[in-house]
Amino acid sequence: MTSSKNLFSRAKKIIPSGINSPVRYYDPYPFFVKKAKGSILWDVDGRHYLDYCNAYGALLLGHGRKEIISDVKKQLTKGTLYCAPTEIEVDLSELISKNFLSMQKVRLVNTGSEATMTAIRLARGFTKKKKIIKFEGCYHGAHDYVLVKAGSGAAHIGMSVSEGSLDEVSKNTLVVQYNNSQELQSLLEKEDDVAAVIVEPVLANMGLVLPGKNFLNDLRKITSEKNIVLIFDEVVTGFRMSPGGAQKYFSIQPDITTLGKALGNGFPIAAVGGKSEIMDMLSPEGKVYQASTYAGNPVSVSAGISSVKTMNKLESKLYPKLEKNCTRLVSAIHDLASDMKIPHQINSISSMFQIFFTDEQVVDYSSAKKANMAKFKKLFEVLLENKVFIAPSQFETVFLSYAHSKDDVKETISAYEKALRAVKS
Ligand SMILES: *Cc1c(COP(=O)(O)O)cnc(C)c1O
Repeated sequence: MTSSKNLFSRAKKIIPSGINSPVRYYDPYPFFVKKAKGSILWDVDGRHYLDYCNAYGALLLGHGRKEIISDVKKQLTKGTLYCAPTEIEVDLSELISKNFLSMQKVRLVNTGSEATMTAIRLARGFTKKKKIIKFEGCYHGAHDYVLVKAGSGAAHIGMSVSEGSLDEVSKNTLVVQYNNSQELQSLLEKEDDVAAVIVEPVLANMGLVLPGKNFLNDLRKITSEKNIVLIFDEVVTGFRMSPGGAQKYFSIQPDITTLGKALGNGFPIAAVGGKSEIMDMLSPEGKVYQASTYAGNPVSVSAGISSVKTMNKLESKLYPKLEKNCTRLVSAIHDLASDMKIPHQINSISSMFQIFFTDEQVVDYSSAKKANMAKFKKLFEVLLENKVFIAPSQFETVFLSYAHSKDDVKETISAYEKALRAVKS
């Protein structure tokens, strides 16, 4: 019989740890998905779940959004990969640039990791400097430049630097605390070989952590003064916080931006873009190399165009609905936890939130680490029993999608009520 349990025991024999990306594992084994639609995931065991993992935020419009599926189907009949340029790549790049004014020129890539790798290489090529600065707990993908004190799965298993990463690479990645521009300033007084500062403008890979009032402004000011490239990694926040991402939400223009996740609403596409003078460093005209067989593939590009057009078309309904549902959910969870006298913090903004079981405000990695992980694990398990699927880690974020209805939210609140009771006991 095909059950998640059986599939996992088969998977473990052929796939390391049985899964293809670390956070997908949880005890005793993850459910295996059969299909998804709108706000719902069905597993092979005949159960279904309200999906608040939403492919780690990618599915802003929900599963199987009709415009996207229809546009992708049309493209499939015309071919799936040409490795020669197409009109739709130009269309998508123009659309991205129209939404993100700081992205004067854009290259399309496949994943967020490729986008940040290219952004950092560009910054080094442009400034002729070597080091980069990131913030503890920020996650920028799974490559050596950034896999130092990273969030997401690396934080979940408590890994500081991955084995197999070269010291020569990781020692050039300097780390400071999120929300601490003073620490950045002091570091820059000692270091003069810094090419870039890379940041998640809202930190969505350590639970959810919001930037303090002046943090992003300070980063912009400090990097401008020192001619350091400021990279906003908007792989999560791009299109999610606003059609122009976090940079529009907070009115701050970075030098380079990376996009992914919601850009393709479930299809593998990402982008790196920024000031023309920096982007023009890319080969073949420039001397910074970036290449990929599947970059700009017409299937993902048509999904990207369809996603962006749909998000733009729905704009006046999309963002208010997401925020309203999120606010309703967060205030209900907060009231429930307060009534039960469970020490907690909830960080939330636009369509994202996370709860931490701690008395202390969560503003950076060390305060996030103080939250009670056993309680979070209990919360996750009981939510799952009650048909609500959130990412199985304290160091991830709960994501709403446009497909979540008012009734979904109601059901979710009662699942949280049961889960919080279990946490309390
Ligand atoms: C998911 C993520 C990445 C990596 O994107 P992949 O498509 O998984 O390579 C990079 N940065 C941020 C902020 C992310 O959340």
